[in-house]
Amino acid sequence: MMTSRFKAIAESQNRNTIAIEEKGRRSDLFGINVFNEKKMLQYLTKDAFEGLKGAMDSGSKIDRKIADQVAEAIKGWAITMGATHYTHWFQPLTGSTAEKHDAFFDLMPDGTALEKFGGGQLVQQEPDASSFPSGGIRNTFEARGYTAWDPSSPAFIYGTTLCIPTIFVSYTGEALDNKAPLLRALGAVDEAATAVAKYFDKTVTKVNATLGWEQEYFLIDKALAHSRPDIMMTGRTLVGETPAKGQQLDDHYFGVIPSRVLSFMSDLEQECTKLGIPVKTRHNEVAPNQFELAPVFEEANLAIDHNLLLMDVMDKIADKHHFKVLFHEKPFAGINGSGKHNNWSLQTNTGVNLLSPGSTPMKNLQFLTFFINTIKAVDTYEELLRSSIASASNDHRLGANEAPPAIFSIFVGSQLSNVLDELEGVSKGKLSPEEKTELKLNVVGKIPEILMDNTDRNRTSPFAFTGNKFEMRGVGSKTNCAKPMTILNTIVAKQLRDFKKEVDALVDKKNLKKDEAVFNVLREYIKTSKRIRFDGDGYSIDWENEAKRRKLSNNKNTPEALEVLTSKDSLALFGSMNVMSEVEVNARHEVDLENYIMHVQIEGRVYNELVYGFIVPAALEYQNKLIKNVSGLKEIYGAAHKKFSEGQLTMIEEIAEHVVSIKKMVDAMADARRKANALKDTKKKAQAYCYNVKPYFSDIRTHSDKLEKLMDNNIWPLTKYRELLFIE
Ligand code: ADP
Ligand code: MG
Repeated sequence: MMTSRFKAIAESQNRNTIAIEEKGRRSDLFGINVFNEKKMLQYLTKDAFEGLKGAMDSGSKIDRKIADQVAEAIKGWAITMGATHYTHWFQPLTGSTAEKHDAFFDLMPDGTALEKFGGGQLVQQEPDASSFPSGGIRNTFEARGYTAWDPSSPAFIYGTTLCIPTIFVSYTGEALDNKAPLLRALGAVDEAATAVAKYFDKTVTKVNATLGWEQEYFLIDKALAHSRPDIMMTGRTLVGETPAKGQQLDDHYFGVIPSRVLSFMSDLEQECTKLGIPVKTRHNEVAPNQFELAPVFEEANLAIDHNLLLMDVMDKIADKHHFKVLFHEKPFAGINGSGKHNNWSLQTNTGVNLLSPGSTPMKNLQFLTFFINTIKAVDTYEELLRSSIASASNDHRLGANEAPPAIFSIFVGSQLSNVLDELEGVSKGKLSPEEKTELKLNVVGKIPEILMDNTDRNRTSPFAFTGNKFEMRGVGSKTNCAKPMTILNTIVAKQLRDFKKEVDALVDKKNLKKDEAVFNVLREYIKTSKRIRFDGDGYSIDWENEAKRRKLSNNKNTPEALEVLTSKDSLALFGSMNVMSEVEVNARHEVDLENYIMHVQIEGRVYNELVYGFIVPAALEYQNKLIKNVSGLKEIYGAAHKKFSEGQLTMIEEIAEHVVSIKKMVDAMADARRKANALKDTKKKAQAYCYNVKPYFSDIRTHSDKLEKLMDNNIWPLTKYRELLFIE
C-alpha cells in the first residue's frame, strides 16, 4: 500500500519540469496596476489632483467634493482595467491583512445598474468586523469599527478587485489596527526630525522614515506540506529528525536556484512589478529551500503595505506553482530560521539621507546628530523595541541561540566607535577656535572616508549601522513591520524632540553657538548611551553576562517581553508623542497575549493529534512487525533464537520506552493546557502556556525524533525533513 507520504513525494517529483516563461520588459510593467501619480494626472481634474496630492504629502483633509471626483476617477480607471469589485484593505491586529469585497454596481430589480462607488465609499466603509481582535476596545466603547482611506498609500488592483489601503478605527476613534499608530508615529518622527534638520538646512520641510525590508522564507512542495498536519495547522514542523545532510555544507547559499523555484520567482516578480513593489534581489539563503527577496527601500508606510501585499501575493503564486511558502520564523528544528531585516533611515524632502555622511563637516555634523540620537533612543527604549518583535513564533529565534539575540545592542563598527570616543572628549561649554577646527576637520570631516572603506560587518548584532542606515535584524519573517516601525519611529521622534529642547536651551541660556551646543549635547549622549554599544559576538554567553551587568533587558519569551508595553514610562511616551492612548496600548497588549496563547494552544493540540494519530500507531505497527519476526525466529530456532533476535528485542524495548514516555508527556501537557485554559486573567494564562505547557513540546519532540530514527522508513507516517527540504 502506498502511504499518503509516498504519494505526495511521487507527485512532487513529477513537477520538476515546469519551464520558465519569458516575460516582457519589467520597466514597462512597473506599477500598471497602481493608481499612481501618472494615472492621477491622467484621470483627475487639476483641482482634484492638487487636493489629493496635498493629502498624500502633508496629510491635509480631502473635502467631500474632491473625494467624489477621486472616487469617480479611480473607479473609471479600475473598470477599464477589468476590476469588478472594490475593497478597503486593512491591517487588523492579527498581523496579516483583511478585506471585504463589494461590487462597484448593484443591479436594480428593473435590470438597471445602480452606482455604488462614490466619495463616501472611497473614504469610509464599515466592515463587518466583529470578529477581529480588538483587545476589548469595541466591546467597551462602541460596537462597531470603520475603515478610513489612507491616501498616502495608493490604491491598486489585485486580481479583479480594486484595493484601497485604509486604517481601521472604532467609532470613538481608537485604532483597531497596526496602520493607524504607525501613521501617527511617522507623523511624530517627521515633525521632530524636520525641526532638527532645519538646524542644518532651513529649506527642509518634511522628513520621511524609509524602510527596506529583506523577506526570508522557505518554499516546500504543496503536496508534501499537505501531508504534514503540523505544517498545515501551525506553519512549522513540530517533529522531525534532522537529515544527515543539513546546511552544514553551506552549498545552498548563493548556489544555483532550482528551475522550479526560479519559475515561481519569475512569476512573483512579474506580479510585484505590476503592483509597483520594487523588488530587486533574490537569492538562496543558508538553509536548504530557504530564499530571500528584497526591494528597493521606500517611504515606511508604503514599504509596509508592500511587504504585506507581497506575502499575500507569494501565497497565491506559490499555490499556482504547487509550492507552499513558509513564513514561520522557525519551520525546521536544527536549520536556520527566517527573519525580515528592517533597514531604516530618515530622508528629507530635499532628497538627503540624514544617516548618510556628506561631503562637508556641516553635513557630517548633521549625520552625527541623527546617528547619535538614534543610538540614544535605542538605549533608552531598548526593552520597548524588543517588545515590538515579540511573538510565539519569533521566540524560536530571539533568545533561543539563533540570530539575533533577545538582548538589544548596537553595532557601529570600530571606526565610528573611534569617532564617538573622540567626540566624547569635547570640552564642556564654549569651544576654542582651535578645538572647533580640529573637530570639524579631523574628526567630523573624516567620516565619509572612513565609511568608504568600512568593511566591518557584524552578523550577530540585532541593530547594526551599515554605512547609511540602521538595520534592525530581529524582526520575524512573519511579523508585520508596522509594529517595530511604530516603536522605532516613536522613540526616535521623542529623542529628537528632547535633543532640540536641550540644544535650544544651551543656545538661549548659555549663549553657545548652535554647533557648540550640538556638540555639547551629543557628547553627553555618547557618554550616557555607552552601554548599548557592543561590537562583539552577540551570541556568546560572555555577552549575556556583560549585558546583565549593563542592565540591558534580556526577555526571552513573549509574555515577558510584552510586559514593558504597559509600563508607566511606555504609556507616557506613547501619550506624549500622540501615538497611542492608554486604552490602545492596553488593547494591544491584550491582543498580543491572546495571539500568543492561541498559537501555543494550537501547537499543543496538534502534538496530541500527531502522537495519538500518527506516531504511536506507527511505532506499534513496527513493534508488532519486530515481535512477529522474533516469534518466527523462535519457532524455527527454539531457545537458540536469541542469537538472531537480540537486536530486535532491544528495539522492541526501546520503542516501548519511547511510547510510554511520549504518551505520559502528551497527557501531562493536555492536563497543563486544561489548567491554563481555566485561568481568566490573560497575562496569567499566557504565562501558564509559556512556562507550564510549552516545555513539554521539546521533550515530546525528542521521543518522536528518536522513534523516527529507529523505525522502518516505509512505516513512518510523516514526510521526513530530507524529503521536505530538497527541491530539485
Ligand atoms: P544585506 O543586509 O543582505 O547585506 P544590504 O545591506 O544591501 O543587504 O541591504 C539592502 C537593504 O537595505 C535593501 O532592502 C535596501 O532597500 C535597504 N536600504 C538601502 N538604503 C536604505 C535607506 N536609506 N533606508 C532604508 N533602507 C535602505
Ligand atoms: Mg540584511
